[in-house]
Amino acid sequence: MKKHNFGAGPSILPQSVIEATANAVKDFNGIGLSILEISHRSKDFKPVIEGAAQLFKEVLDIPEGYSVLFLGGGASMQFCMVPYNYLEKKAAYLNTGVWSKKAIKEAKGFGEVIEVASSADANFSYIPKEFTIPTDADYFHFTSNNTIYGTEIRKDLDSPIPMIADMSSDILSRPVDVSKYDVIYGGAQKNIAPSGVTFVIIKNDSVGRVSRYIPTMLNYQTHIDGGSMFNTPPVLPIYSAMETLKWVKEQGGVKEMERRAIERADILYSEIDRNKLFKGTVATEDRSLMNLCFVMNDEYKELETEFMDFATARGMVGIKGHRSVGGFRASCYNAMPVESVRELVKCMQDFEKQH
Ligand SMILES: *Cc1c(COP(=O)(O)O)cnc(C)c1O
Repeated sequence: MKKHNFGAGPSILPQSVIEATANAVKDFNGIGLSILEISHRSKDFKPVIEGAAQLFKEVLDIPEGYSVLFLGGGASMQFCMVPYNYLEKKAAYLNTGVWSKKAIKEAKGFGEVIEVASSADANFSYIPKEFTIPTDADYFHFTSNNTIYGTEIRKDLDSPIPMIADMSSDILSRPVDVSKYDVIYGGAQKNIAPSGVTFVIIKNDSVGRVSRYIPTMLNYQTHIDGGSMFNTPPVLPIYSAMETLKWVKEQGGVKEMERRAIERADILYSEIDRNKLFKGTVATEDRSLMNLCFVMNDEYKELETEFMDFATARGMVGIKGHRSVGGFRASCYNAMPVESVRELVKCMQDFEKQH
């Protein structure tokens, strides 16, 4: 049976990326060796890491003066690297859920943290709109897409101070005005690659502002200077990232990714709103195009397990909601075909007919 992979991460990748990666594992570039067993400094890998950074710059229209880094440690390591490198006295954070909170926790180890706004009062089911960013803070940090709750800030905010964003789960799903940010980072395992690599888009002249000693591996300057090759980078996921970036470009770029995301979300949210068994979980205007969350309507709560089994039997994978929200979450990253979303909708409709 065909599987429809709605997993939240690591998650669906384009079939062509999986095939290219499998081929590179067997025989990389026809050199008679696997990509798993070659030096990251070999002449065959150099074009991969440089190509991936170059393609990232192209598809996201990254201006001059920025570097694209591929590091280890996940987005979670960035929660610590960001304040290590940028927080001298105080920083401003928008709290929109678990990932924001984790970023805030790390920042507090380096200085004062101002929470400009929080939606904790309603289990992070909306994005706070009215808040003031203090002009005397070192930077303002926000999470663009809240993978767990299914809310998203689908635009580039305005900030009077340097802006830094965790875009782990919606990177490459829309055009971004990179010039508004000092740093954009994320784990690549949601929209770009298998797990193991973290992308960091960084304005070169934004580093070096704090007075503390920064350990070499945690200093962005090290990785800008070393072209992400100060130490051994995650070779295989970087290869997959390059293939995904090629795919995005061939498909029509981030504008086309955005068109598809809107199309998928329209189809699924319309059904969530129409179907008597289900309802959405977050403020309509803040609904994520990447992680679409829904629960059983109150009168049908007892059908949750039954629907899960029903959907699983139809090939739906990874639709169980995060434990802090419950219900269901259909993650629709870039590689998600609209046909899979139609299958899920069909599943919801057929289930409704039985009740
Ligand atoms: C998944 C996720 C993370 C965590 O990423 P790791 O690479 O596992 O550290 C951080 N932020 C957001 C928004 C995420 O979706």
